[in-house]
Amino acid sequence: MTTPRVAIVTGAARGIGAATALRLARDGHAVAVLDLVEDGCLPVVQAVERAGGRALAVGADVSEEDAVASAFARIEAELGAPTILVNNAGIIRDNLLFKMTAGDWDAVMGVHLRGAFLMSKAAQAYMTKEGFGRIVNMSSTSALGNRGQANYAAAKAGIQGFTKTLAIELGKFGVTVNSIAPGWIQTEMTAATAERMGVPFEELLEQWAGQIPVARVGQPEDIAAAVSFFVSEDAGFVSGQILYVAGGPLG
Ligand code: NAD
Repeated sequence: MTTPRVAIVTGAARGIGAATALRLARDGHAVAVLDLVEDGCLPVVQAVERAGGRALAVGADVSEEDAVASAFARIEAELGAPTILVNNAGIIRDNLLFKMTAGDWDAVMGVHLRGAFLMSKAAQAYMTKEGFGRIVNMSSTSALGNRGQANYAAAKAGIQGFTKTLAIELGKFGVTVNSIAPGWIQTEMTAATAERMGVPFEELLEQWAGQIPVARVGQPEDIAAAVSFFVSEDAGFVSGQILYVAGGPLG
């Protein structure tokens, strides 16, 4: 039996975040659907409500301290104290090192690392008070190195060290912290990658599927299922782990 909790999923207006918000709502949790623009979150909130769940659309930039503070205040007031956090918001600014600008570097670090830091710092106050918490941070197989992604790979490897450290610091308060490193997942982010490479998305998906042991690319729901496990009551002895969800062995 799931104890209903209040969950926050960042970057939840679409893709992996949207699937995760829907999954956590189906698991019985109230979900704050957080993304840059509040209106953009409404279709996910409505989908949760149609399925009989509870959700709140929250517009906030996770890399801005004041916006994060306001988001938490609103979530606490409207849904209750959040004890599940999924740091999923992400961007790519791909380029080979010699062409990558400092702006591309800072933007990626800002959303992935500063964002996960600010959100986790705000969330731990509720979690430690409650004596229960679950944080899941979205890494990537790119953490292992990927051409054209020096900024993104560094951020996603950073997320892994961040996850392990929070697991050590927060464990005694009943808070577990884990990370998921997805492989190729069919979303607008990977569609943008195809566009940058000048390859039709369907062709690229087929190419990727040919290299993946389970012979298909991933879907957002594949990642949502792994999040659902990590945030469950039953996963209380699993912490500081990096789970590669990539259709084959990695990591
Ligand atoms: P996506 O681009 O479809 O969705 C990302 C969402 O994050 C968007 O709705 C965007 O508005 C939001 N976002 C961006 N910056 C934000 C900010 N500052 N504050 C709040 N929200 C912000 O991406 P996706 O494919 O669903 O990826 C989700 C996560 O999974 C990302 O962290 C990504 O790096 C990671 N990931 C994706 C893949 C993949 O193959 N798609 C693989 C590995 C890891």
